[in-house]
Amino acid sequence: MSMLQLEVVTPDKTVVSAQVEMAVCPGVMGEFGVLPHHVSLLSALKIGNLRYTEGGKQHNVFISGGFADVNNKVLTVLAESAELAEDIDTARAQAAKERAEKRLASQADDVDHARAEAALQRAVERLHVAQLR
Ligand code: ATP
Repeated sequence: MSMLQLEVVTPDKTVVSAQVEMAVCPGVMGEFGVLPHHVSLLSALKIGNLRYTEGGKQHNVFISGGFADVNNKVLTVLAESAELAEDIDTARAQAAKERAEKRLASQADDVDHARAEAALQRAVERLHVAQLR
C-alpha cells in the first residue's frame, strides 16, 4: 500500500515524523484531506486539529496555524507550535483561556485585543483536541 510521509515541524522540534495512510489539515479555507497521490500544493493553515491515520489508528495534533506543503508523497506541516493530543497540558490551556478572557473583558488601553483573541483561540482549540485523545 502506498503511504504518505507526514512531517509536523515547529521551530523547537519535530512533533510527528511517520508513514501514514492519510491526513486531514485545518486549511484557512476549510479542512482538506491528503492521500499519498495528492497533487502538489501549498496551503496556509489556521488554528485547528490535524488528524491522521497511522496503522489504522487515528491521531490528533493541535496546530497553531502555519503552512502545509504537499510534494511527492510527503506532507510537511510547518507550525509555530503543535502538540499531539496526548501531550496537551489541559490545566495550562485552561489557564491560558482564562487569562485571555480576562484581557478581552478588560477596558484597559494597553490590551492588545488581536493578540488576546488569538491566545483564546489557541487555548479553546487545545482543550478541544485534548478531548480527542
Ligand atoms: P501559553 O500562554 O500557555 O504559553 P500559548 O498559546 O501562548 O499558551 P504557544 O505560544 O502556542 O503558547 O506555545 C509556546 C510553547 O508551549 C510551544 O512549544 C507549545 O507547544 C507549548 N504549549 C503551549 N500550551 C501548551 C499546552 N497546553 N500543552 C502543551 N504544550 C503547550
